[in-house]
Amino acid sequence: MYDVNKIREDFPILGRLVYDRPLVYLDNGATTQKPSCVVETIAHEYFSCNANVHRGVHYLSQKATELHEASREVVRLFINAKSTNEIIFTSGTTGSINLVATTFGQEFLEEGDEIIVSTMEHHSNIVPWQLLEMSKGVKVKVIPITEQGELDFEAFENLISNRTKLVSVAHISNVLGTVNPIKRIIDRAHQEDIPVLIDGAQAAPHTPIDVQELNADFYVFSAHKVYGPTGVGVLYGKEEWLDKLPPYQGGGEMIQHVSFSGTTFNELPFKFEAGTPNFVGTTGMAKALEYVQSLGLENIAQHEDELLSYATKRLNEIDGLRIYGEAKDKSGVISFLVNDIHPFDLGTLLDRLGIAVRTGHHCAQPLMEYYGIEGTVRASFALYNTKEEVDSLVDGLNKVLKMF
Ligand code: PMP
Repeated sequence: MYDVNKIREDFPILGRLVYDRPLVYLDNGATTQKPSCVVETIAHEYFSCNANVHRGVHYLSQKATELHEASREVVRLFINAKSTNEIIFTSGTTGSINLVATTFGQEFLEEGDEIIVSTMEHHSNIVPWQLLEMSKGVKVKVIPITEQGELDFEAFENLISNRTKLVSVAHISNVLGTVNPIKRIIDRAHQEDIPVLIDGAQAAPHTPIDVQELNADFYVFSAHKVYGPTGVGVLYGKEEWLDKLPPYQGGGEMIQHVSFSGTTFNELPFKFEAGTPNFVGTTGMAKALEYVQSLGLENIAQHEDELLSYATKRLNEIDGLRIYGEAKDKSGVISFLVNDIHPFDLGTLLDRLGIAVRTGHHCAQPLMEYYGIEGTVRASFALYNTKEEVDSLVDGLNKVLKMF
């Protein structure tokens, strides 16, 4: 039995007031709130065994290292990777994609090679590839979408050429909520021996992930969108790929031996982890993933699906409201506009009622360009949101709309 009111007690911030009104937090696509257990775990590590990891012989350093490496195992289990060698700790989704773009570009790309992304990508899955256009002369090709916000699979197949070297697409769109058919995309790309990177930033909090079943070559996500701390995230890569990629940044931990006559590099996963890692962050992330698993991702998904259906129905009752993103397979994100009212105006007035939504282009300007709009208002749901909060959003919107 999924008891959302009980679950909300795990998130102290949800009880606060904003402008003397109860907070209605519907900006989970940007970042999620943190349960007490995550914050307490982080505080506990700082208070009880803070010391730099890996090189210390002393007690605290060994304890911190144990926690850090145990977190890698928690992540491995969370996405069902084969080995912890395939789990690279990064600063987040953006850090992970840049790591792959830079190293894959350096090792495998030449002028005229092609990377396929889609119209609905976050800038983090566009710009790193565009940097390769500038530095290497590769070409970024773009999978078009339909008006409903679904990827055009046939068009994707037509984009594949003998110069395609990588496909990089979002599992779930942060604007449209579309759940992309990533298994189908991966299988199709693999028919031509093309590796696939999946941007799982919006999927990790909402749906079970099995990288082996998906057969993804790379899968990336951020802890802060899965109820964990900021500044830490994951790059999953198949060992066979990570072995072939050169190191990314140079520094401590990624070396085996340093000499002015030649430096050798550490084994996986440390080869890609230069400098002091965010070892307290990884412990916090692991706690967050365990928390999510204790509730059950299937249960979370079902709860959020119910919220999505309810919110879609209620928002559609508002005259002049248009929802962007009507994919058949959709996750708990609703982007919308009402008549020609600027999204900032709607967002600012909703904020005064204690309702936190995001407004603007959501770091997906090419998608906005496709729809011919500047931005949208976006409500995005998490495991702790309620139908009453959806009602507050709808009531709030109705109040705000009376002012126009
Ligand atoms: N990709 C998607 C689909 C996202 O939603 C986001 C965050 N909005 C990112 C990438 C970037 O994540 P981060 O800022 O945590 O690196």
